[in-house]
Amino acid sequence: MKAAVWHGEREISIEEREAKEIQPDDVKVKVAWAGICGSDLHAYLHPSSVPMNLNTILGHEFSGEIAEVGSNVTKFKEGTEYAFIQ
Ligand SMILES: [Zn+2]
Repeated sequence: MKAAVWHGEREISIEEREAKEIQPDDVKVKVAWAGICGSDLHAYLHPSSVPMNLNTILGHEFSGEIAEVGSNVTKFKEGTEYAFIQ
């Protein structure tokens, strides 16, 4: 999957990342849309103003469809569409 990765002030790259294997308490979402919010923009322009680790994947506000749920998950079902803010 592709990910926007923050590397520091004014440094973002689009990189290929391996999806993690789903665990019993996980929900895997097939992302339809992901946004860049104000905190992402602050990290890009003024990194000292936002506590963020190097190599963080941006886009924590997104929408998509539940693709897979872990064996302990009961609240979410595959195929349901949601908007998420992480
Ligand atoms: Zn945000």
